[in-house]
Amino acid sequence: MTVLVRPKALGDHKVRTFQMLIDGKWVDSADGRTIERVSPGHGVVVSRYQAAASVDAERAIAAARRAFDDGPWPRMTASERSLILLKAADLIAARADELAFLDAIESGKPISQAKGELGGAADIWRYAAALARDLHGESYNTLGDGTLGVVLREAIGVVSIITPWNFPFLIVSQKLPFALAAGCTTVVKPSELTSASTLVLGEILEAAGVPAGVVNIITGTGPEVGAPMTTHPDVDMISFTGSTGVGRLTMANAAQTLKKVSLELGGKNPQIVFPDANIDEFIDAAVFGAYFNAGECCNAGSRLIVHRDIAEEVTARIAALSAKVKVGDPLDPETQVGAIITPQHLEKIAGYVSAASKDGAAVAHGGEALDLGMGQFMAPTILSSVRPDMAVAREEVFGPVLSVLTFETTDEAIRIANSIDYGLSAGVWSRDFDTCLTIGRRVRAGTVWMNTFMDGASELPFGGYRQSGLGRELGRHAVEDYTETKTLNMHIGARTGWWMPR
Ligand code: NDP
Repeated sequence: MTVLVRPKALGDHKVRTFQMLIDGKWVDSADGRTIERVSPGHGVVVSRYQAAASVDAERAIAAARRAFDDGPWPRMTASERSLILLKAADLIAARADELAFLDAIESGKPISQAKGELGGAADIWRYAAALARDLHGESYNTLGDGTLGVVLREAIGVVSIITPWNFPFLIVSQKLPFALAAGCTTVVKPSELTSASTLVLGEILEAAGVPAGVVNIITGTGPEVGAPMTTHPDVDMISFTGSTGVGRLTMANAAQTLKKVSLELGGKNPQIVFPDANIDEFIDAAVFGAYFNAGECCNAGSRLIVHRDIAEEVTARIAALSAKVKVGDPLDPETQVGAIITPQHLEKIAGYVSAASKDGAAVAHGGEALDLGMGQFMAPTILSSVRPDMAVAREEVFGPVLSVLTFETTDEAIRIANSIDYGLSAGVWSRDFDTCLTIGRRVRAGTVWMNTFMDGASELPFGGYRQSGLGRELGRHAVEDYTETKTLNMHIGARTGWWMPR
């Protein structure tokens, strides 16, 4: 059984209509087309956006180019930019309830979780504001009497920022403030499913004092609007979060003009648990790791690699706790697992579960879609007897589905953990220091949690190995990512001639 929180009808909720932000003006798409977003938790239209075409993307890129080449933003002092970012953070905090509501009705995530994400996002804007003032190069006064070397950090230029639907406000906040801190100008494209909070961010940035053309926000589909943002010669860098497939396409597009690319892609993250672990703590983290954001999370702990001696007990206890997880109305403050982003995505998740069952996995809990009268929902699901070669153990399901695999030796656990194409994050559970460090060093993932899962902080870099991505977000180098390095090689005194001695 699953605890159901039946959604309440949205009642007199008004459909909110948005324009796009190009060159400091709020505008319709060139051809007047719009997109409607149906709330995944309530099954009704909640937002209407402009469906931009490539001509709109080109206008936005041209505005960002002008703002970079001729505008004040890259020429301001870091202190001035930092003050504007701090003001933006205050305005985000002031409008956090509105932004969280928009993310919850459009993505289906629980409102209490969305509010937490807004708090995290405001913190990231403040962190980026602090880093803005610390951006600096290097000098070399050690190259002999005749030479002084200075290494500058310059803003890279125009950055295309493309974001997905699972953490609409948080993910744009992992990119945009750092690009702005460096002095870059930007074109931002949120997912066509969850554009509202990013558009409100545009209002916030205007109010905070970001000049026209520095942040342009366009809405529309990936192929129509995202693609030109990855190919246009006036774009200098792309920062993308989304699927590995589109990430690959983005990199191929960027190769035509050799743009810098930062990619945050999928994950199939293992949690490895040893018999000496604090099992109570682990059970809670396993349930949280698998069902947070309905599993629609690149960091989801969707693969448990459990020592054979405790596999039965662990699976039974996770099943028991899963039965207490509250699933349903994204707007109910008690809800822990909300709606699934689209009906098509729900079908994809259910397809993984039925394929795994046919292939020999056992459903220890859940396994089916839930009918709550409106919207689309999936029961928290545990699959046991999963083999490492099954699709459900190797591919990103992006739903509340946990696969339980077993191991006997540490080497075997590491081999299973490293046997897939992804390497975003991992967890290890043991009271033994050596065990934790051995796993921490040998698992190929961008983050390894020890006796915890999915904790994070603005100070800690985030990103993946292998097909989970390229580059790191957050952390103290996050602003540098949006810069070019320039060497000033200065000669002092008489130069020695090349052809003839002077
Ligand atoms: P996508 O990779 O398709 O979408 C991510 C962003 O890229 C969206 O803004 C999308 O636009 C845009 N996009 C799509 N096609 C192109 C293109 N040709 N050129 C440029 N931009 C493009 O992910 P989905 O949203 O379709 O999700 C599919 C799967 O991806 C999920 O099931 C999950 O496995 C994975 N995923 C991983 C995420 C992560 O955090 N690592 C986040 C989201 C998804 P639009 O959607 O508006 O068309």
